[in-house]
Amino acid sequence: MNTYPLMVSEDLVVQAKRTTLLSSAAAINAAVTGLDRLTEENVTAAMAGVESEGVSRAIVTDPYGRVLYDTRDVGSAAGYYVFYNELVEALRGNIAWYSVYQDGAFHSSAAQPVLYRNQVIGGVYVYEYDTQQAALLTTLQNNLMTVSVVLAVVMLVVSLFFSRQLTQRLGNLQTAIRGVREGAYNQRAVMTGHDEFTQIAGEFNDLVDRLQETESARRQFVSDASHELKTPLAAIRLLTDSILQNRNIDNDTAMEFVSDIGQEAERLSRITEDLLRLTRLDSGLMDTASGRVAVEPVLERVVRMLRPVAHEKSVDIFTHVDEGAEVVAAEGELYQVLYNLAENAVKYNRPDGFVRILVRAGAETTVITVEDNGIGIPEGELDNVFKRFYRVDKARSRAAGGTGLGLSIVSDTVSRRGGAVRAERIPEGGTRFTVTLPSLERGEAAT
Ligand code: ADP
Repeated sequence: MNTYPLMVSEDLVVQAKRTTLLSSAAAINAAVTGLDRLTEENVTAAMAGVESEGVSRAIVTDPYGRVLYDTRDVGSAAGYYVFYNELVEALRGNIAWYSVYQDGAFHSSAAQPVLYRNQVIGGVYVYEYDTQQAALLTTLQNNLMTVSVVLAVVMLVVSLFFSRQLTQRLGNLQTAIRGVREGAYNQRAVMTGHDEFTQIAGEFNDLVDRLQETESARRQFVSDASHELKTPLAAIRLLTDSILQNRNIDNDTAMEFVSDIGQEAERLSRITEDLLRLTRLDSGLMDTASGRVAVEPVLERVVRMLRPVAHEKSVDIFTHVDEGAEVVAAEGELYQVLYNLAENAVKYNRPDGFVRILVRAGAETTVITVEDNGIGIPEGELDNVFKRFYRVDKARSRAAGGTGLGLSIVSDTVSRRGGAVRAERIPEGGTRFTVTLPSLERGEAAT
């Protein structure tokens, strides 16, 4: 910004100098043109009528560079030989000029040959030393400098202001990130405005919300799991203590206690098995050997396993499977889902009740419904039953050997396979669980 206008103005002045100096030289040249030979006398006489305005010095020389006329009185070069570059060039028959801005002044010179019948009979040399225009240029330079300095200061202040603001906002974000890293999940980034920072802060806060939810779910899960494990362990402790402390315990009572201990141990192993299954689902470790599985044989196995219990409770099990019904899952997963739902339907039934399992094959999905006319689930609890360790009736679930994890396993497995499960009440007073699972592998088209 500083240099460009200066360069342009300097160039303009130099061009103007060229024009004036060359025309001054031409005027002098015109005065001596016509003479066949230049001498001190005839040149001085010819120069008498010439006003060499706009130049500081004018010199006329013979063809060898000897000065015949010099406008300068003090330090006149008359009679001496001069070899200014431009003059030498002129004596060779060319027009020459030169101008430079140096040390606060313009030094300009121009020279022309004096011709007689196309022969160089001398040279005209004019020189100008100009401080006036140079002073203008210096003023311009100074003004530009002042403007630049002022602008630089303003820009510095403005950028300092913005960078401080930026640092402060980044600092806010950093404090929040550090807080969360150290475990303060309630820490949020406070950011006002509508720019990218606010967006990032918003995203960060959402992320922390999710983290907080996950963390509290994890804590809840650990605490529930410990509690669930503690209950059978406490019972085992109590039963063993009773046997150990009672020396005269009769055989039948001891046997009863030991069988109770066995039942509690079995319960413990059921809970740990379910917990392991859930952990595996949580970490995304799925049975890789998945593909399209025919539902019918798996359902037959489930029913075979449950028939004795159902018979004991005089509960009837009906099944209907559409021909060729398949789902995309590992066989073990399908077995687990069907078993957990059917077992619940038997467990939470009433004498002479029924369990109806229907499998409908659609174009892209297979829908499995497990209905019973058992004790039912209150309307408000229908969504809760899929939560971990949730039981509508704790005592009843325990008595039936439940862990409160069966439906969580169903729900997690099904959603990992891209399906869904929901529970609803049916008019007969029982419950219907509907599982939807894809029947085509990814990329397969329905036929
Ligand atoms: P549990 O091991 O206790 O059966 P689940 O996760 O399988 O755990 O089920 C959670 C709760 O949902 C059960 O404790 C029970 O209260 C209720 N429930 C599940 N299935 C049925 C059903 N078919 N009829 C009535 N209640 C049910």
